[in-house]
Amino acid sequence: MAKPKGIRHLILVLGDQLNADSSAFDGFDVSQDAIWMAEVVDESTYVWSAKQRIVIFLAAMRHFRDERLAEGKTVYYTRLTKNSKPTSLAEQLAKDLQKLKLTKVILVQPGEYRLQDGLSQTIERLGVGLEIRPDRHFMCSLDDFSAHAEGRKQLRMEFFYREMRKRHDVLMDQDKPEGGEWNFDASNRKSFGSNGPELNAEPLTFSPDDTTSQVIDLVKERFRDHPGSVETFRWAVSRKQALQVLDDFIQRRLPNFGDYQDAMWTKEPFLFHSLVSSCLNLKLLDPREVIQKAEDAYQSQQAPLAAVEGFIRQILGWREYVRGVYWRFMPDYLERNGMEAEESLPDFYWTGETDMQCLKNAINQTLEHGYAHHIQRLMVTGLYSLLLGVRPQEVHAWYLAVYVDAVEWVELPNTLGMSQYGDGGVMASKPYVASGSYIDRMSNYCRNCRFNPKKATGDDACPFTTLYWDYLARHRDSLKSNRRMSLQLRNLDRKPEDELDAIQSRAASIKKDPAMTGCSNQKELSL
Ligand code: FAD
Ligand code: SF4
Repeated sequence: MAKPKGIRHLILVLGDQLNADSSAFDGFDVSQDAIWMAEVVDESTYVWSAKQRIVIFLAAMRHFRDERLAEGKTVYYTRLTKNSKPTSLAEQLAKDLQKLKLTKVILVQPGEYRLQDGLSQTIERLGVGLEIRPDRHFMCSLDDFSAHAEGRKQLRMEFFYREMRKRHDVLMDQDKPEGGEWNFDASNRKSFGSNGPELNAEPLTFSPDDTTSQVIDLVKERFRDHPGSVETFRWAVSRKQALQVLDDFIQRRLPNFGDYQDAMWTKEPFLFHSLVSSCLNLKLLDPREVIQKAEDAYQSQQAPLAAVEGFIRQILGWREYVRGVYWRFMPDYLERNGMEAEESLPDFYWTGETDMQCLKNAINQTLEHGYAHHIQRLMVTGLYSLLLGVRPQEVHAWYLAVYVDAVEWVELPNTLGMSQYGDGGVMASKPYVASGSYIDRMSNYCRNCRFNPKKATGDDACPFTTLYWDYLARHRDSLKSNRRMSLQLRNLDRKPEDELDAIQSRAASIKKDPAMTGCSNQKELSL
């Protein structure tokens, strides 16, 4: 760190706060204020972060630093090197604060409880003034979310979303929703025909520049045993690139987004999705500009209402809602395990080595690109761990580690709440459980799989289908008071006892070899 001159305000910028217009910079005076940023080992190791996730954070931070330096701002920046020792952000900050003379530290409210807690304690312990400013990136403040939640027995995204549409005047026709409906899902969610998707628009990607290439080399060396590869790293890492990603989506894929939002296809990881999540979560994009561009595309008849509404709901609805849930229920949310799930996460989640084609595809593309779309996360990797009964905290650690868009405030409610039903129904009104038939309907995975999605018993039975019935049987008592589960439980009750016995015995053997590669059987034979 260079010798300091004497600083009025030190502006802390965390890796997911890369917004030059954030409230941290209000009143910034180049002659007296400075920025502090740090790359530290612990942020890449507290969960076993995939290489692509580490690269995107470090590369975006370095681009942000260079842009601020070019504006004439002073930036105190700690770089990771291949020899960097484990250190936390709070430890690095404490070390640096002892060397600097300053009046006050300014920080936008961190996205993660863990960081907010650790950094504030460190700053207070050192007797330095601290001002935490609200995060203007979000369209619903935490106070507004509390006001929405107050007095409600149950939180539901749909009601929150309607309030947000009205408050921000998005897709509104005076006080009515545009097109007469709040939600056009009924006309979305098609699957592809037997020939697969007609993709006319490969997403825009970026070859690594010198800064990103240096980060890639560093990550290959310093985090060589971390999961995934970096050879295919092509993500946006600057504000300029993020805007290009957004325009590319709006112009070329948004019109088909709604129809094929839930569809999946072998070796087609991106389909008609926007790929803006990492740009949004790093704060390279503002949700208002994303929503405005989508709405403009509808107004200028470049995209149908169902696609535009479906897309806007994800950002104005789900994304804001999960943030509200996270802050309302943290820190105890992290430890919830409403379904008392105690299995371990199978090892193949880190390698993709399984005979189940749906999981193989979803995991391999995750390790290759740091990306899977929502239904692959919810109804393939998430569904399998839910049906197996994996501890939600282990599932959470995996999702937080492997995706380029993973930050805890958005990942945790999606994983522990929506996907694993571990929060006792805060995020979802019922567990998202389905058999292999759902995956068969929404993808072509089953065509190339040795298992049969329609079968729950027998050697070729689909593990999802077996475990689906086993899950319902295991949780029958706790689910029977949930009206939304009654149809599924009635179907369970129709199963003859001997069939249910056979299902449960196959489920027990799946749990011994959850990758379904036959390895555990081979071990048994060799005994
Ligand atoms: P699109 O499908 O094009 O959707 C547009 C945007 O809407 C996304 O970029 C995202 O910002 C927002 N969005 C969509 N669904 C959600 C949602 N459920 N919650 C919050 N925002 C949403 N999203 C993350 O940003 N980070 C995560 O760590 C993350 N972890 C997830 C874990 C699980 C188990 C599940 C089921 C979902 C998770 N999601 C997460 C939500 C969603 O899967 C991703 O936002 C989406 O797949 C990102 O790809 P995209 O940008 O192409 O999104
Ligand atoms: Fe997945 Fe079952 Fe289909 Fe195989 S048959 S791809 S395991 S859903």
